[in-house]
Amino acid sequence: MMKKDPIRVAVTGAAGNIGYALLFRIASGQMFGPDQPVALNLIEIEPGMAALKGVAMELDDCAFPLVTDIVQTAELDVGFNDCDWALLVGSVPRKAGMERADLLGINGKIFVGQGQAINDHAKSSCRVLVVGNPCNTNCLIAMKSATDIPNEQFFAMTRLDENRAKTQLAQKAGVPVKEVSDLCVWGNHSPTMFPDFYNTRIARQKATDVIGDETWLKETFVPTVGQRGKAIIEARGASSAASAANAVVDTVRDLTTPTRGSFHSVCVHSSGEYGTPPGIITSMPITVDAVGNWRVVGGIGLTDYAKEQIAASNEELLEERKIAFEQLGLSI
Ligand code: NDP
Repeated sequence: MMKKDPIRVAVTGAAGNIGYALLFRIASGQMFGPDQPVALNLIEIEPGMAALKGVAMELDDCAFPLVTDIVQTAELDVGFNDCDWALLVGSVPRKAGMERADLLGINGKIFVGQGQAINDHAKSSCRVLVVGNPCNTNCLIAMKSATDIPNEQFFAMTRLDENRAKTQLAQKAGVPVKEVSDLCVWGNHSPTMFPDFYNTRIARQKATDVIGDETWLKETFVPTVGQRGKAIIEARGASSAASAANAVVDTVRDLTTPTRGSFHSVCVHSSGEYGTPPGIITSMPITVDAVGNWRVVGGIGLTDYAKEQIAASNEELLEERKIAFEQLGLSI
């Protein structure tokens, strides 16, 4: 068999909690497959470089046969050089007393710089997945800053919300999680996102028929999914990291392999599908065809309730864009 060229993956925030749970799964072949070599470009800010060295030492100590080389750097031009995928995980967390507008501005600046560096140093085919929050708006800012890279190559992550939602429904219905399908999380990766239970299937039947309790779906299920991150912080004393990293693996794997079965939730650049505001990065149902192109699945019927929820979440994205773009001097 012909030897495959390595896929070069850049990861920011590589020494953080999600980074630590993510890198070993990329290196072991779970993201791109068991016969696909990978090169890792690990990016950290200066204060994270010592910890990053330790992470790289552990990667070395795994002797992963698929890993061709590991770059450790705080320089964006080095970190994004020649990469095929940029996984933007690092971002400044919201601290006590910090307003949402402050966070949008602080992180916005980071994603301007990263978008420009990707534009100038990554392959022109580079695909970008933003995880660092607020991930939809950070992704939009990176996309705007990478003027030569097509908008279709930018994604933000709602797969963890989808996975969380599927498990909640499976547990309520008393079935294994693999029986839950056709579940799209719409909108912003924030508590306003809407997991559309109306179109979800449980063991091929409508979830609303199987659960038979719309009040539970609206008033318990939806908020449980939205508040799950908070519940994990309360239980674990630290934010979700392994499940977030798992969702990164799921997202990239499902964007790089033809879809078998149902769609998955990914935040993409909207062309106005389903009445979403064109130009924002918002979560919609995505499938990937045999040659690797993604598209928004058409023809999904949305109830008035779903439409209202999705519109409210997209409204929040428009507001985030307004605040961030004003601070950064970007134009729509
Ligand atoms: P994590 O690795 O736990 O999280 C990284 C980012 O992922 C955060 O923005 C976090 O958002 C976000 N995230 C998105 N979805 C989820 C989810 N479902 N669950 C949990 N987090 C989610 O953060 P750490 O602080 O451990 O690590 C961050 C690393 O990034 C550090 O090593 C730091 O040095 C680096 N960093 C890099 C920067 C840069 O590249 N310029 C800037 C600042 C830090 P949320 O905060 O909302 O939980």
